[in-house]
Amino acid sequence: MAATALVNIGTLVTNDATLGNGTLGVIENAALIFEGEQITWVGPATEAPIADQRIDLAGRAVLPGFVDSHAHLMFAGDRSAEFAARMAGSPYHAGGIRSTVAMTRAASDAQLQENLTRLVNELYSTGITTFETKSGYGLTVADESRALAIASTITPETTYLGAHVVPAEFADDPAGYVDLVTHEMLTACAPHAKWIDVFCDRGAFDGDQARAILRAGIDQGLMARVHANQLQAGPGIQVAVEMNAASADHCTHLTDTDIELLAGSNTVATLLPGAEFATRSPYPDARRLLDAGATVAIATDCNPGSSFTTSMPFCIALAVREMRLTPDEAVWSATLGGARALRRTDIGRITVGARADILALNAPSHVHLAYRPGVDLTHQVWVGGRAHRVAS
Ligand SMILES: [Zn+2]
Repeated sequence: MAATALVNIGTLVTNDATLGNGTLGVIENAALIFEGEQITWVGPATEAPIADQRIDLAGRAVLPGFVDSHAHLMFAGDRSAEFAARMAGSPYHAGGIRSTVAMTRAASDAQLQENLTRLVNELYSTGITTFETKSGYGLTVADESRALAIASTITPETTYLGAHVVPAEFADDPAGYVDLVTHEMLTACAPHAKWIDVFCDRGAFDGDQARAILRAGIDQGLMARVHANQLQAGPGIQVAVEMNAASADHCTHLTDTDIELLAGSNTVATLLPGAEFATRSPYPDARRLLDAGATVAIATDCNPGSSFTTSMPFCIALAVREMRLTPDEAVWSATLGGARALRRTDIGRITVGARADILALNAPSHVHLAYRPGVDLTHQVWVGGRAHRVAS
């Protein structure tokens, strides 16, 4: 297998404190080598062994590819009119999801595939090298299972979210819908999914419904993640921790107990600042989570209703400016934090044996991701050792 060396790296974020400075394990004047899909050597440029191919990065910053642990990419249409109305003063509520459900049900497989491909190219071009995607805009057995079948051709991180909202046709019978989600729909979706998720919040599913839904998925071999406490404080965090969910996502409204539960658990608090931005909502109190010792991830929540961004750098900038993360904390949360939220140990770091998921920036350090908001800093992205975008 041919070995590729990236040399003349100005600053390299490894996310391994034993390899360099600080939590991010930053090495200055660094090099790395990958062979096939794996990183095989990391260290100071002066000590780099010879490789078959050598790419000179001219002092640029390199970091692990971003891990987007929360996205909704299986849908059709957009909701720009709803966004404009909201910016003009209309409130956000979970029911807006139903308008995307109608458009998604009406779309052909080819249209769903085309929309997914377009969004995935956007994700890669902002430096995301692993992404999760959910169903949740079909809400019938056939529409949920086709969304997951299509998604599973492009990412292993697929999440069954039949419990996004109760669809209009079950408005008078939410218990009947929970029964469908936990039986026939689950059976059809489980072969295409790794995770099960539930929107446990006002206007969606309550704590007992969420427990029943997650339990059914876990019994079918899926792992749990939860949309928790986006719209109000409620049982979402408690349910997530109780069910050993990999992640509780949003965490916008937290009680002291919620913070203690997260800090004392194996459940990552995944923050989605794009959603607060696009719904003009208060941001989660990330400092309290971090200071209590919780593991924090940042993800895009890319979806057509409440966070239509595919840009992890934008989310990092929001996390720094609006949630008071340091630039180092935000970069960690968007890389290794995301990997933890997907319970993956092979990504989110640049260390020997890790997947060669690598982002080179047109900037001298990772701090520029927050320092230069709105600017495309991507120089080159390697996904499993394959260059996604030709250097400019
Ligand atoms: Zn979401």
